[in-house]
Amino acid sequence: MKIVIIGAVAGGASAAARARRLDEDAEVVLIERGAEPSFANCGLPYYVGGEIESRDKLLVAPAERLRQRYRLDVRTRQEVTAIDRDEQTVSVRNLETGEQYVESYDRLIISTGASPFRPPIPGIDGPHVLELRDLADADRMYELVAGGKSRRAVIVGAGFIGIEVAENLVRRGLDVTVVELVNQILPPWDPEMVRPLEDHVRQQGVTLKLSDSAESFEEASSDDANLIVRLKSGEELPACFAVVCIGVRPESKLAADAGIEIGPRGGIVTNDHMQTSDPHIYAVGDVAQVKDFITGEPTQVPLAGPANRQGRIAADHIFGRDSRYRGTQGTAIVGVFGRTAALTGHSEKMLRKANRPYEKIYIHPGDHAGYYPGASPITLKLLFHPEDGRIWGAQAVGTTGVDKRIDVIAMAIHAGMTVYDLEEVELCYAPQYGSAKDPVNMAGFVAAGVLRGDHPVTHCQLVPPTDHERDWCVLDVRTPTEFAAGHIHDAINIPLEELRERMSELPTDRHIAVYCYVGQRGYMATRLLRHNGFDVSNLSGGFKSWEQCHNSEH
Ligand code: FAD
Repeated sequence: MKIVIIGAVAGGASAAARARRLDEDAEVVLIERGAEPSFANCGLPYYVGGEIESRDKLLVAPAERLRQRYRLDVRTRQEVTAIDRDEQTVSVRNLETGEQYVESYDRLIISTGASPFRPPIPGIDGPHVLELRDLADADRMYELVAGGKSRRAVIVGAGFIGIEVAENLVRRGLDVTVVELVNQILPPWDPEMVRPLEDHVRQQGVTLKLSDSAESFEEASSDDANLIVRLKSGEELPACFAVVCIGVRPESKLAADAGIEIGPRGGIVTNDHMQTSDPHIYAVGDVAQVKDFITGEPTQVPLAGPANRQGRIAADHIFGRDSRYRGTQGTAIVGVFGRTAALTGHSEKMLRKANRPYEKIYIHPGDHAGYYPGASPITLKLLFHPEDGRIWGAQAVGTTGVDKRIDVIAMAIHAGMTVYDLEEVELCYAPQYGSAKDPVNMAGFVAAGVLRGDHPVTHCQLVPPTDHERDWCVLDVRTPTEFAAGHIHDAINIPLEELRERMSELPTDRHIAVYCYVGQRGYMATRLLRHNGFDVSNLSGGFKSWEQCHNSEH
């Protein structure tokens, strides 16, 4: 068995190591265009920012180790230029010597990844417009920022990588502006979930230009600017350099040229074993089109976890194992200047776009028991099917404990669980780690309560900040002090503790939307009023979610 693997980083290196563990005699040839195999792409921004001090730390499995430990034939600075499916060969060019040769294969694994998207904006190919995909890109950026050489940078795109780069350039003392086409940072999340993060990013000195885009990059030669970035809004931003982080496109040209089936978004179509339309050829990682774990529909999600698992599955299948890829859930996490945002499954935007039925709840529990020092709030949004309670997805933002909750819910989705299961799961608890009712249980209690009809909910999006014509009543059950500090316009204030005595002040001919600060007192008020025959709902996530949703800065 001779396996040739194109691309030697996440998916490719994982497939190669697995192949060796499964078969000691197979010939495994790993061909990589770059100078280093198996490097940590995910660590690149932190090397640029100085958090990861040594470049060597990024070399997860250097070529020599792959050769010695796994007896792999690692060929770096070599590029596959064509695939001949009839002959079962690939053409290779040695980028050092220019030499061309042909290599045969029994099985081919394509793990060529995805390249940063570079739209045809004037000046985008200029010397001061960077991207961050590999070590060479990181070296270039490092050179520009180390030792205080650059003062200002513009980042185009506020996705994961854009935000990570912003954080690391701020760490290097640069004045950073982030330009983003849509009206939010971190577009995979729903907008109201990231509003507090936008404020936090601004507080770190970053200028955010949302709903704007770069129209051109023009070379300049002033003392502190090599570049002028012109925005659609007409603004001109001088910068020492710009970084374009506006998404990636699968590097599937080799496969397309060889007549392998390609999906509508450019990914190589694969089956559950990661085989392409040619059964001798597999595709894994960012270059592959896979299925969405929840819906089974085709999707492309460029993440390291899926790439690594798919590499293993391709190798397993080559050696006769019936391993199958179950689909990608899109579980992801990002650090934002000391805060954390994580998500799994489908967002509300995705569900709405696909016209799927859903209900949602927001909660704001502490990451651990409030009586133990250092507790910090987590905002958690859970999306679920309104009939059977199956979980569509979850998003969380906070400082600590966010990863744990989203990982638990990711596992619940993987196991096909419902919100009723989240009520029942037993999670670890001591006061410094969680609560006896963990945020995951709480999300289950609230969501299941909604489905059981115990407490109907209203959502912040349905309570606009300046709607004076609504035919229902808004009731604030917080204390007068909380009410005075800020409330929804036209709301009447009856603190929860006085509600039983003052119920006569409430209308009986109109719906009442109740709220408190995070939803808990609102829940109790909803129950109380329902017992007394009122038509009532609780504002999910309370005033806190409402404020996040209608943050006036946006
Ligand atoms: P890659 O790891 O990109 O490897 C593809 C390799 O193929 C490249 O080295 C390329 O040089 C080589 N290649 C391409 N064409 C050829 C050819 N013709 N011949 C030879 N070699 C070729 N994901 C996360 O889950 N979490 C994170 O925190 C995270 N952070 C990231 C930060 C950055 C800056 C970047 C760039 C990515 C990050 N990712 C993260 C995404 C993650 O790195 C990718 O999803 C993952 O590396 C994909 O693996 P892959 O094997 O498909 O492609």
